[in-house]
Amino acid sequence: MADHDAERQRMVSVHIAGRGIRDRSVLEAMRTVPRERFVDTGMQEFAYEDSPLPIDAGQTISQPYIVALMIEAAGIGPGDRVLEVGAGSGYAAAVVSRIAGHVHAIERHASLVEAAQARFDALGYDNITLRVGDGSLGWPEFAPFDAILVAAGAPAPPQALRAQLAIGGRLVVPVGDSVLGERLRRITRIDDDRYQEDDLGGVSFVPLIGEQGWAEDGRRSASNHVPGRSRGHSLAQLVADAAEPLPYIDAPGFAEAFDRFADARVVLLGECSHGTSQFYRARAAITRRLVEHHGFNLLAIEADWPDVAVLNRHIRHQPPRTAAEPIFQRFPRWMWQNAEFASMIGWLRSHNQGRDAASQAGVYGLDLYNMHASIATVLAYLDQVDPDAAATARVRYGCLTPWQKDPATYGRAVLDDRYRTCEQEVVRQCRDLLARQVDYARAGADGERFLDAAQSARLVAAAERYYRIMYYGGADSWNLRDTHMFDTLCHLLEAHGAQSKAVVWAHNSHVGDARHTDMGTARGELNIGQLCHERFGDDACLVGFGTHGGTVAAAHDWDGAMEIMNVRPSHRHSLERLCHDNAPPRALLDMRESANPALHRALRAAHLERFIGVIYRPDTELQSHYSEVSPSRQFDAYAWFDETHAVAALPVQAEGWDRGVPDTYPFGV
Ligand code: SAM
Repeated sequence: MADHDAERQRMVSVHIAGRGIRDRSVLEAMRTVPRERFVDTGMQEFAYEDSPLPIDAGQTISQPYIVALMIEAAGIGPGDRVLEVGAGSGYAAAVVSRIAGHVHAIERHASLVEAAQARFDALGYDNITLRVGDGSLGWPEFAPFDAILVAAGAPAPPQALRAQLAIGGRLVVPVGDSVLGERLRRITRIDDDRYQEDDLGGVSFVPLIGEQGWAEDGRRSASNHVPGRSRGHSLAQLVADAAEPLPYIDAPGFAEAFDRFADARVVLLGECSHGTSQFYRARAAITRRLVEHHGFNLLAIEADWPDVAVLNRHIRHQPPRTAAEPIFQRFPRWMWQNAEFASMIGWLRSHNQGRDAASQAGVYGLDLYNMHASIATVLAYLDQVDPDAAATARVRYGCLTPWQKDPATYGRAVLDDRYRTCEQEVVRQCRDLLARQVDYARAGADGERFLDAAQSARLVAAAERYYRIMYYGGADSWNLRDTHMFDTLCHLLEAHGAQSKAVVWAHNSHVGDARHTDMGTARGELNIGQLCHERFGDDACLVGFGTHGGTVAAAHDWDGAMEIMNVRPSHRHSLERLCHDNAPPRALLDMRESANPALHRALRAAHLERFIGVIYRPDTELQSHYSEVSPSRQFDAYAWFDETHAVAALPVQAEGWDRGVPDTYPFGV
């Protein structure tokens, strides 16, 4: 059972007070009103994530921080008479009612009014009067108001609402459109004729539909007409104008459109599922072009280091290491054991044929899960170059022996005081190995082998920490994993010299800058894309990948069997639907401000975006797979494939499973 009270207190401390809301009465009211009672059934577990959530009639319950910000900005005090326009779930009106004397609230959807009224009744909040109607015209019978809050974006502050302010009253309203972006404005009435206006920053709201707002079709309503573009049409038009059609993925010219990103030091290519053929094939085509024509020499993928190290030896025409274990054995195997990726490995191998080591391209794994094989790599390396150090390493890693094969149980064990942690040993082992680099180089070990051993030692140290904190939940283990992946990328670039350039293949959730998605704003999570933007600035290019529908390879549950599932058509408020409705079937959307300022501004507004991982649950898709993002700040560009299909997973068993890939392909060795 979730402890909603505790979650609420935490949300207020972390997301409301933590982000600068100081008004004690606002904080107290937010600590009191049970937001879980205002969200739809099935969404209660997300009630305290500080994000907007979908409610009935295609609307949203506002993000708690924005509710707090608006109430604080309106300076609401005891005894005040307040009007709220756009009552939605009733949550904001409920919070205001804990501070003000009386709240009048208007909502245009009758179904929402009915549900909100039932909530007020059940909670005994009897100082709220609610009705169905067009709130852009206000509620003249009860005017003047000390404060008016508008929870939907208007093209301009409605005249009727300004007129219904008491002298000294404050109107807080989002103004603007999704093209130019909405700004939160506070309008204070100084006297009968004079108003003062303050800008409170950028926000994103559903539109205010009404006589003094937008018309249903997205145009400004006649009585609030200001010359300019209409709302819905211009965003659609911008996307239609900006989307550059791409040829078939297998056509020779497919990747040319991506040449514009080739000046970057790192190009990150995402995917919105771990099981879509088009994403692998398109990323392969783009990577081939970047390697062949633009000097990229590192491919870093969201897979475990030791597994990909086997492939790196293979594509560099080095003999396989003896006693190496089969690779990509853990769930989800289809993520890298698929024909599309196998074909990319085949290409890299032939590209490297006849080149010296320095001009070859390499492939590396960024992820930290395969602790067992990483330990084996360190020991095998030390056995060769420094047997004494190998003996010490065996003792140190012995601490992890009981958990090597199933490290997830390590975290649970160290919660119990009887078990000691292995932290010091693995960190010391990593430090010792890194400190001996020069000696080992003198002993004749080549750079790639040292890199493999050093990175394996780093992985063991990071994985020890990862599994230890995994049991506490929260953002820490995610952040540790993505920080490790980013550090690995930096070590790769460093190890290959100042001229090295990397392509990264990882899920959109790792590639898209987390600061501009629910991950960062609601959950405190960071990712590789964010860290690359922060470290490399314009020298990092983040490309997201998306689709409207088709099929995908995924499982219903963790460790479940892979199935080919139908992907539901994209949600009508999503970025995907915007592309489906307005872009060609294959397209590139360059969203950088330097490339298309109007599109960049328009796509800063919040949109839903679908994230399918290795798990896909179509039945609860909206709750389980959609998040709110600011697309043009999340990604620099978006590669669009309207209809997609599942990857061709390779059979798991050795027998015949490498059919269709080069004989030498090393899976299963
Ligand atoms: N304050 C709400 C809450 O806490 O749940 C947020 C609701 S949502 C962001 C905005 C609401 O404004 C929607 O429910 C929408 O139907 C409503 N709305 C839009 N235009 C309106 C209008 N002219 N009059 C009244 N409500 C309107």
